[in-house]
Order: sequence, then structure tokens, then C-alpha cells
Amino acid sequence: MTIQKLLIANRGEIALRIHRACHELGIKTVAVHSTADADAMHVRLADEAVCIGPPPAKDSYLNVANIISAAEITHADAVHPGYGFLSENAQFAEIVESHNLIWVGPKPEHIRIMGDKIEAKNTAAKLGLPLVPGSPGPLHSVDEAKLIAREIGYPVLVKAASGGGGRGMKVVPSEDQLESLMGQASSEANAAFGDPTVYMEKYLGDPRHIEFQVFGDGNGKAIHLGERDCSIQRRHQKVIEEAPSPVISADQRAEMGALVAQAMAEMGYRGAGTIEFLYEDGKFYFIEMNTRLQVEHPVTELISDIDLVAEQIRVAQGDGLSVTQSQVQLHGHAIECRINAEDPQTFAPSPGLVKNYVAPGGMHVRVDSGLYAGYKVPPYYDSMIGKLIVYGIDRESCIRRLKRALEEFVVEGMKTTVPLHQRIIATDAFKTGDYTIKWLERWLDESP
Ligand code: ADP
Repeated sequence: MTIQKLLIANRGEIALRIHRACHELGIKTVAVHSTADADAMHVRLADEAVCIGPPPAKDSYLNVANIISAAEITHADAVHPGYGFLSENAQFAEIVESHNLIWVGPKPEHIRIMGDKIEAKNTAAKLGLPLVPGSPGPLHSVDEAKLIAREIGYPVLVKAASGGGGRGMKVVPSEDQLESLMGQASSEANAAFGDPTVYMEKYLGDPRHIEFQVFGDGNGKAIHLGERDCSIQRRHQKVIEEAPSPVISADQRAEMGALVAQAMAEMGYRGAGTIEFLYEDGKFYFIEMNTRLQVEHPVTELISDIDLVAEQIRVAQGDGLSVTQSQVQLHGHAIECRINAEDPQTFAPSPGLVKNYVAPGGMHVRVDSGLYAGYKVPPYYDSMIGKLIVYGIDRESCIRRLKRALEEFVVEGMKTTVPLHQRIIATDAFKTGDYTIKWLERWLDESP
């Protein structure tokens, strides 16, 4: 079935990104929004808009009944969830499908499996992906945990099975602290996710975060589009992402890519997915799979020339993948900076009225943002106000172009992280690509 009208169940830059792909494909769009987002760019551009509730996300962007009603009254025939909010909610996917709407996302059963990190690890192991050494399943008692920790060696990491955003995660340096930290991780997990289940992993000292973009047609065909390096992180949140990774060779990419694509083919995975690994001493360790589009998907688009949202829509309406693995030609280099409305030193949120806005432009410079002069950034949601994504024929020219583009970026009326990005990309560590997931925090501590 060909999608005629698609409801975008999200907000901000990703809602605009989805709208753009739809209009290029001749698909009409329906924006749903909270009262706080009535003036948002994607709401202005969409063919139709429906207000689905007050500012708190639980009453609007997470309000399943209102979103489904909006689809029904506008006669939309598909729903794209974007990232965050309901994008990895298997029950929502099922509800969408049971209303005879096309769900632009993976099969609900795969969302469910990968949403439970223990089940995800077991599935990954069965599919032949390398894991971080750890407990074979949930931890049932402190005594059991002690035995496993002795075997894998301290420090260990206790993680929430339903975790996300780095919550419910505790590093345990030695046995005497295991009981109390395990208790803390479990109660934090219960408070945040309503599930106290925790498991254990070896704590890797200084890894990189490297993830593979995969795509499946749902019928046993799957491809990979290379990796992204997302090691520039603060508090487990990605700040800068790049593709390809500065430390992965073409052989490693081909080998790991084939492994993840094969795993997705065996699963019968449908749509876009990301397989996240930690990478240390030349080895990959699976940590989780995200069954949705990622914030950092544009860096992959720039080096593959594939529109990932258009590809999601193709697959969702049953047209299959647009390319085979051998047709995928990765080239050049791309870097993304997440621009947040935050103080670049203290990271305090800085929402408010945009007094002036000038986005950078020129060759190979892309800005995904719903910002415009006169727009008021609401305080209720995530502080990311846009993404700057730059392409170059190689990493060095990409960094030079990024520096030039950041110089042009003007947002008046609030603090942004543009100056932080300017400082990061000027460091030797960034220029040489010699950084790990610990680097940014260490550098911030040392260079106030
Ligand atoms: P979440 O879903 O909460 O984001 P992840 O499992 O994706 O949790 O881990 C988030 C981040 O935590 C990783 O990008 C990495 O920085 C760190 N991390 C996770 N597992 C380990 C580990 N075993 N050793 C060291 N760091 C880890």
C-alpha cells in the first residue's frame, strides 16, 4: 500500500526532518503538537495540525489515545514516531497497526525484545554478536552477583534491564561495595522504569562507542550502512558524532558490517536499527540495539547518499530496500554537532525567545533545526535545538568546514553549546581522532 498521508508523532527537528522526507515523496503530513508547540516550524509546514494536549509529554506526545484520534480524524494512513517519546514502545506500535495504520518502524516483537537489555543480549549472542562479559541474565542475589563479579574481575557495572539514558547504572570498584551499589542501581531502575531488574557487565576502562546502522526489509533481507563513532559524550549523552570512525579499518567495517547485517537478516528485522558496541583494544562488544532512527542518522546519510527516512517509509509500505549491500558506496567523512540551548560551561538549560537566528550554509553544510527568529524555545522538552552536519571528502577537510560553519552560526536570545563545539574541535585529541567515551568529561574537568 502506498502511504498518502503520514502522521508525525513527534516534535522539534526530527518532526521537521520527517515532514521534509514526506513532501519529497509526495506524502501529505499531519503534525500533532502540545499547546506549547503551536508555533513550531513543523506545525507551520505540515498540511494539517492537531493539538493533542498540554505541555507535559505524558499528556501530549505520550498520549496514545489522542494521537490515534488525531490519525483517525485526519484520515492519515501511517504513523512515524521519530526518536524518543513513543518510538520504542512496542504496545504503541501494536495499537497503531491494530487501527489499520502503517507503523513506520520495526515489528512490535523486535521492539519488545530489544527494549529488554537482557533479552537483547541473549538474542545478540544467539545471532553471533560479541558481548561484554557479564551475568548470563538478571542478578537474583548479592551472593550470585559476587560469584559472577569474581569471575569477570572488578570493576564491574550493574545495569538496569529496562535502562535508558544512562539511568540505573552503577560502577562497582570492589566487592565490599557491591551490595550497596547493586541496591542503589535496582531502586533507581525501579523508580525510573518501574522495573528493578539489574544485570552485570565487565566495566570497560576506556572504550569508544561505535554503532552500526542497519536496515531490514522484514522478509529476511538486510544491509548495513557502516558505523558511526559517538564517543564524544557527556554523562552518557552523545555530543558529537562522526562517520566513519577514525579508528576502524575498511576490513573491520566489512567484517563487523557483514555480521550485523546477517544478524538482522536472520531475525527478519524490518526498518532502521542501530547496533551499539563498545570498542576497546581492537575488539567490539555489543551493548544494546535501538529499534528506531537515531538523532545522529544524518552523518550516515551524508556518506551513503541514502535518505534514511525515505528508506523507512519505503520499507514500511512494503517496497523493500532501495539498494543491495554491494550498491552501498560509503564515501568521504561527516560530522554532526548537537546544538543545545544550554550554557556551554555549566550546561544549565537556557530556553527562551530566539531574537535572531542565522544558520550556516554553503557547500556540504546541513542544519536540521526548527528554529527561526521570533520562535520561543519551550522549557518542557529536551534542550537540543538543532544539529549541524557537515561533509568533507576526508576527515581533515570536514573538520575545516565544520570550524567555518560554527563561526557562522548565530542564535541570539539564549546560550547555546556552539562555543563548546568550537573548543572541542580545536583540541589535538579531536583533530587526531584519539578520544574515548571518557575523554570529554576529563577534558572539561581539566580546562574550565
Ligand atoms: P543507556 O541505554 O542507558 O544509554 P547503554 O547500555 O547504551 O545504556 O550505555 C550507555 C553508555 O554507558 C555507553 O555509551 C557507555 O558510555 C557506557 N557503558 C555502558 N556499558 C558499559 C560497560 N560495560 N563498560 C563501560 N562503559 C559502559
